[in-house]
Amino acid sequence: MKIFEAAYPVNHTPTAEELSALAAKACGLPSRKIVHCDIVRRSLDARGKLVYRYQVRALVEGDDPVKEYRFDYKNVSSARPVIIVGGGPAGMFAALTLLQRGLKPVILERGKDVHSRKKDIAAISQKQTVNPESNYCFGEGGAGTFSDGKLYTRSTKRGDVYEVLHQMAAFGAPESILVDARPHIGSDILPRMVEGIRECIVSHGGEYHFDTRVTDLKPLSDGKERWEVICDGGLTFKAHDVILATGHSARDIYKLFDSKGWMLEAKDFALGVRAEHPQSLINHIQYHGRWQPGIPAAEYYLAEQVDGRGVFSFCMCPGGILVPSTTDNGALVLNGMSNSQRNGALANAGIVVQVSASDVPEYSKYGTFALLEFQRELEQKMFEVSNSLRAPAQRMVDFCRGRESANLPKSSYTAGTIAAPLTEILPPFVADSLRKAFLLFDRKMKGYYTNDALLLACESRTSSPVRIPRNPETLYHPQLPGLHPCGEGAGYAGGIVSSALDGIAVASKLL
Ligand SMILES: Cc1cc2nc3c(=O)[nH]c(=O)nc-3n(C[C@H](O)[C@H](O)[C@H](O)COP(=O)(O)OP(=O)(O)OC[C@H]3O[C@@H](n4cnc5c(N)ncnc54)[C@H](O)[C@@H]3O)c2cc1C
Repeated sequence: MKIFEAAYPVNHTPTAEELSALAAKACGLPSRKIVHCDIVRRSLDARGKLVYRYQVRALVEGDDPVKEYRFDYKNVSSARPVIIVGGGPAGMFAALTLLQRGLKPVILERGKDVHSRKKDIAAISQKQTVNPESNYCFGEGGAGTFSDGKLYTRSTKRGDVYEVLHQMAAFGAPESILVDARPHIGSDILPRMVEGIRECIVSHGGEYHFDTRVTDLKPLSDGKERWEVICDGGLTFKAHDVILATGHSARDIYKLFDSKGWMLEAKDFALGVRAEHPQSLINHIQYHGRWQPGIPAAEYYLAEQVDGRGVFSFCMCPGGILVPSTTDNGALVLNGMSNSQRNGALANAGIVVQVSASDVPEYSKYGTFALLEFQRELEQKMFEVSNSLRAPAQRMVDFCRGRESANLPKSSYTAGTIAAPLTEILPPFVADSLRKAFLLFDRKMKGYYTNDALLLACESRTSSPVRIPRNPETLYHPQLPGLHPCGEGAGYAGGIVSSALDGIAVASKLL
C-alpha cells in the first residue's frame, strides 16, 4: 500500500482517472497494476493559493485489502441486559457496541426524544424558561445533538476514530466526515442521525426509556444482578452491569455519589466567555483575503500561556449561533452550534481560562465540589445581571480597556444581550487572563482584537469539574464492581467523538 499526496485547486474535485494516473506514477507502475485507489484525507491549505490537499491510498496486487467497517448488530431481545444511564454519544455508542456483541442495551434517559426535545429548546429562547430535564444538554443524543457537531479529537489512543465516523455515516451523517481533516455534521443533520441510532437499537431488541431520570443506584449483594437502578416515579431496573454516561451537567449524580460516600475526585476545568466576530473577518484573516463562495467558513484555534495559566479557544463554531445551554432556571451558560453549511454571518468560540481549586480558596469548604460550586454560583451571577437569559456582553476592546460599551453589535445569541462590564462581573483572575490573551491572540491572527467583536458571558461547561474514578483495568468504579463511569461526565472524554470512543471502550470491556 502506498499513501501519497496530491493538491488540487479548491474548485476542482479530482476524478477517479486522475487519481489512478497519479497512483501509477507514485508507485512507479502501469495503471493496470493499481487495484484500488481512494482518498483517505482532505484538508484545505490556505498558506499560498487556496488548494485542497489530498492523501490518496493506492493498493497494488498482493497488498492487504483496505479495512472495511461492517457493523453486525445482533438481535438481543432475550439477551442479558446492560443498563446505560444517559443517551448521549457515550451511551449511544456503548449501546451500539453491546448490540454487536450480543448484549441488550437498556438506555435510561432523563430527557425527551429528539423531536419533543426541539420544542423545549425553542422555549428556552422564546419564553425564557428551561425545562430542567429537556434542554441543550439533556435529552436524546445528549449535549451533542444541537451543536456544531465537530468531530475532531486529538486523541488517537482512545480507540478507532473511524469506527465512530463510519457508524455515524451509516446513520445519516455526510460521507465527507470520513475524509475531511476537520469533519463536522451540523444541527440540521444531527437529530436525524441520533434518531437513526435509536431505531437501530430498538429494532434489534434494545430498549430506550425517555423521561426516565435515574435517582438512585443500589448495589445488590445476592443473585446474579449486581445493581438496582431506581428512577423518578419508582420505576426500577436490575442488571449485572451499569454504564453511567450522564454527561458533565448531571450534578445530581455527583451529589448522589457523595451522599453514599462513594469516591469522587475534583478536576480542573476552564471557563470564560464566548467571543463573536463577523465570519467575514475570520475568513479574511485565515484565508489571507482569498476567501471565495463555496469555501468552508474559516475556523481558528488559539492558545496562549498567560502568567502561567492556559487561555484557549474552545468549541469554535464557524457561521454558527450562540445558544443558552443551561440546565437550570436562574442560571446562564452559553455554548455554540451551527448547521451543516456553517453559513451564518457570525463566528463564535469559547475563550476560556484554566481554573483549579487553588484559584478559588474561598470554595475549599465544599471539598471535592469546590469547583462545581464555583461554576454553579458564577452561572447564577450571570443570570442575575438581567434576571433573565439575556447574556451580559461587552465589546472586546472596551472589555480590555475597562470601559463600558455604549452599544452592542448584532449577536446571534438567541435569548438576547445586555451591555454589562464583564471585567467587573467575571472573577478577576479570569478577566485579567482574558484581557492579556486577546492582545496576544491578535499577534497570531491580525485583526482578531477588534471592537467589532462581542464578548458574552459565560462559557462555563467546558468539561466536568468532578471526576468519577474508575479502575483502568476493569473500567469500573474502584469501590463498585459492575458500575462503569463513562464519557464526559465521568471525566474520561471531552467532545462527541472521544465520548463515543469511551462508550465503545467501556461496552467492549463488559464482554
Ligand atoms: C451546545 C453544545 C455544543 C457542542 N458542540 C460540540 C461540538 O461541536 N463537538 C464536540 O465534540 N462536542 C460538542 N459539545 C460537547 C459534547 O456534546 C459533549 O462532549 C458530549 O455530548 C458528551 O457526551 P456524553 O455522552 O459523555 O454526555 P452527554 O452528551 O452530556 O449525555 C449525557 C446524557 O445523560 C442524560 N442524563 C443525565 N443525568 C441523567 C440521569 N440522572 N438519568 C438519566 N439520564 C441522565 C442526559 O439527559 C444526557 O442526554 C457541545 C455541547 C453543547 C452543549
